[in-house]
Amino acid sequence: MHQFLNIKKSTRISADFWNVTRDAGLFDLVVAGLGDGRHRVLADGHEFVNMASYSYLGLDTHPRLVQAAAEALLSEGSLNTSSSRRTMRFGVLRDAEIALSELFDVEAVTVNSCATAAWTSLPLVASGLFTDDVPPLMVFDKSAHFCLNAMKPNVADEAEITTIPHNDIDALEDLCKRHRQVAYVGDGVYSIGGQAPMPELLRLQEKYGLFLLLDEAHGISTVGQRGRGVVLEAMGGINDRTLIITSLNKGFGASGGAIFLGRRGSQMRFDTALRSAGPLMWSQRINTAGLGALLASAELHASAELTELQDRLQANIALFDSLVETPERGDGLPIRFVQVGSEEATVALSQDLLRAGFSAPPVFFPIVGRGRAGLRLMLRANMTAVEIKEFCELLTTLRRREPAAADAGV
Ligand SMILES: *Cc1c(COP(=O)(O)O)cnc(C)c1O
Repeated sequence: MHQFLNIKKSTRISADFWNVTRDAGLFDLVVAGLGDGRHRVLADGHEFVNMASYSYLGLDTHPRLVQAAAEALLSEGSLNTSSSRRTMRFGVLRDAEIALSELFDVEAVTVNSCATAAWTSLPLVASGLFTDDVPPLMVFDKSAHFCLNAMKPNVADEAEITTIPHNDIDALEDLCKRHRQVAYVGDGVYSIGGQAPMPELLRLQEKYGLFLLLDEAHGISTVGQRGRGVVLEAMGGINDRTLIITSLNKGFGASGGAIFLGRRGSQMRFDTALRSAGPLMWSQRINTAGLGALLASAELHASAELTELQDRLQANIALFDSLVETPERGDGLPIRFVQVGSEEATVALSQDLLRAGFSAPPVFFPIVGRGRAGLRLMLRANMTAVEIKEFCELLTTLRRREPAAADAGV
């Protein structure tokens, strides 16, 4: 029992922090969208800039994507077939998967979220079907996303599993030396900052045939040629020992998730997934509106507009880095973690920021360790320099008061 998960325990530990967050009015805000990551709270009309949106390129409110979503829905006249896709699917789903496969030069299949992509792909890899019929030793990075970790009990029924410290290449290489088949499970870009050590992972792949299953929820769109993310950018193109999952609801600005099963035309993997992976067989997939947005986003990703947006994002990251120091400074990724320490001081800081017009929600256990709370900030292409400067100045001023706030037991 509790070899992999202990929900009751972690819920109890975090309960107080959640309550403080709720009481501070930082939880479950009901808002109207004002476009470009700005919102108005319905209850009191307070307006704020979202400093923690996953929409790194601002595509969630891009007029062409919104229009394409509406048109696809109206033209099909239905959100879904309400049947298993194995039996039938709308043309727009076929078109969307072809567009995604062409864009990233992979064999892509879509599902209704990145979490579903984890549910779909991990059991397939653990079964050994993609590693010469030998179930690989499944090595999880300690910081791998919740949706990957939550699959451990399922995976453990098919393969041996182990967890190694974050980005510990020596530990991974040691396991590669001692096991015939090893599959490494981690994130391309980590939710609270940093990225996978791609050059080292590729070296292990080359030397030992290491299989990689990486979650690119934050990497896709954000960086790389045509927005292919940190993994494909480092590889130059997908290979047979790699499987990538991603959200299409973050940087991509559409909806749902995807699995890049392997090289384009990997029919065996596609058939295996469709015939054996639970969620792909059931009733939900990206709905027609989401598929319309996906098609428009794929088109945008193949155009010069993508590079323009990525450049704007990079300029905003550089501006932020010049004003606020974080461990992630200079890594070219949009996630910045401002560690405060005390949960209470973090909530107080977040509350002050919201009052001043910026939403930067507190992050605490179990996302980070106890007593290591902080603000997770996400930069976007559609933030103005004025907004970033104002936010950074405010953050710096408020943080100077932190020790006093902690002493006072706020
Ligand atoms: C957000 C996130 C997910 C979940 O994505 P959904 O599409 O919301 O299911 C998975 N992995 C990582 C690293 C994430 O940040």
